[in-house]
Amino acid sequence: MGKPTGFKEFDRKTEPYRDAMERLIDFKEIYTDHQEEHLATQGARCMDCGVPFCQSDEGCPVYNLIPEWNDLVYHKRWKEALDRLHKTNNFPEFTGRVCPAPCEGACVLGIHEPAVTIKNIECAIADKGFEEGWVVANPPHFRSGKTVAVVGSGPAGLAAAAELNLKGHKVTVYERDDRIGGLLMYGIPNMKLDKGIVDRRVNLLQEEGINFVVNTDVGGSGENGMPVEQLLNDFDAVLLATGATTARDLQIPGRAGDGVHFAMEFLLQNTRSLLDSNLEDGNYIAAKDKNVIVIGGGDTGTDCIGTSLRHGCKTLINFEIMPKPPVDRADNNPWPTWPLIFRVDYGHEEAAARDGKDPRVYSISGKEFVRDDDGQLLGINTVEVDSNFQEVPGTVQFWEADLILLSMGFLGPEHYVCEPLNLELDQRSNYKAEYGKFDTSHEKVFAAGDCRRGQSLVVRAIDEGRLAAVAIDSFLDS
Ligand SMILES: Cc1cc2nc3c(=O)[nH]c(=O)nc-3n(C[C@H](O)[C@H](O)[C@H](O)COP(=O)(O)OP(=O)(O)OC[C@H]3O[C@@H](n4cnc5c(N)ncnc54)[C@H](O)[C@@H]3O)c2cc1C
Ligand code: SF4
Repeated sequence: MGKPTGFKEFDRKTEPYRDAMERLIDFKEIYTDHQEEHLATQGARCMDCGVPFCQSDEGCPVYNLIPEWNDLVYHKRWKEALDRLHKTNNFPEFTGRVCPAPCEGACVLGIHEPAVTIKNIECAIADKGFEEGWVVANPPHFRSGKTVAVVGSGPAGLAAAAELNLKGHKVTVYERDDRIGGLLMYGIPNMKLDKGIVDRRVNLLQEEGINFVVNTDVGGSGENGMPVEQLLNDFDAVLLATGATTARDLQIPGRAGDGVHFAMEFLLQNTRSLLDSNLEDGNYIAAKDKNVIVIGGGDTGTDCIGTSLRHGCKTLINFEIMPKPPVDRADNNPWPTWPLIFRVDYGHEEAAARDGKDPRVYSISGKEFVRDDDGQLLGINTVEVDSNFQEVPGTVQFWEADLILLSMGFLGPEHYVCEPLNLELDQRSNYKAEYGKFDTSHEKVFAAGDCRRGQSLVVRAIDEGRLAAVAIDSFLDS
């Protein structure tokens, strides 16, 4: 333990974001620079508990060795902290930025004091590692002669590729998009995760010997399509890491027509245009001067809010079907489970700074998209719902909107990859494969990440990719 009395002496203080109004004028990251002294003090708050729940099942999904690196940071032994961090997490520069930090919800200090700022410390260790030139390509010393194809280049595919490559297998990652990274690249926007940071890691993986092939739609029938059977012929094993990309729709009257888009169309096009031309090519759905309504919360909803504000939308409202969460944990949500409490994410903070109020409206459900005679979107009629999602009579309300973004979650993977393989699906339409084994109903095919477990988190995808690599490695050895 860094400082035995640290948790009594120092208060929790997270690293601040850039000023909300300043950051709204660009797509640069929202974070401020790390202050090492400050982080060492925060690291000193770690109690090095006998049973560190932060790295248990309820805490960090990759079992990061949190108390160990908190202690190393307190003693300014950053290089060793980085080595400890990389033992369990291939991409701490991603999780340090985007992870919701279930570890902090499970921190023992959190029972009676605010939790240790674990995520900030993780991010600072990773960033310092790159700044100091400590993170370098580490190619394997031998090659096994075995080959693996990974379909999908999100965090699950990348983590699996990294681990399989380290074991000496020759890995090729196929991605249908034009850039590598999955939702790290084209879901989470630049202000939350700069795309240079994704590219930097992909370049290292490439230097380590992983082969990346973009614009290749495995199982697809278009001009970039590639038969999945070809992978079975050419490789010793195949890992599907295709994500949960089927968006949940809102099939109410008036759905067809302009003005209503899935969140991912909006976010993907924005990031691609930003990277290609700094938004000058105009190849994106513009929110400028529009009345925008985002339907659905979560990370995706927040990212739609943040992006719309950066475009300069006229008004912004965010509908949430759930009731407003409590400020503190409810009795049925005890420590160390993930606290289901009211949070103000970066997009909400920005909306409040610009418009003077939080954009969220709770316990509300869409009834009908309202259009004029030419089909032009005018807005949406809604109704209030109770805690059982039953409509409250007499509460129909019209909301003006020119752009409505649907951010209502995802229903699982698309199935055109697995159909030719006759893969079994689970009850939620994910590829069926047991956690820990990751083997599908086809003997050569494995599945990991959101396509196996349903939509989740970057850190869970990394965990699945790492463990799937272990399973594939033992399959290749057998
Ligand atoms: C907008 C948004 C914001 C999010 N924000 C956060 C956040 O802040 N923090 C967090 O922890 N999680 C966040 N998440 C969730 C997180 O991004 C995912 O859980 C995670 O990326 C899943 O990783 P994955 O590797 O399983 O799949 P993905 O990241 O979805 O990657 C799958 C890849 O497979 C490719 N693919 C699919 N089919 C094929 C095919 N047939 N051939 C070739 N390639 C194919 C796709 O193009 C995609 O690139 C967010 C999700 C969204 C949608
Ligand atoms: S990956 Fe997420 S859960 Fe794990 S230590 Fe980092 S912030 Fe916490």
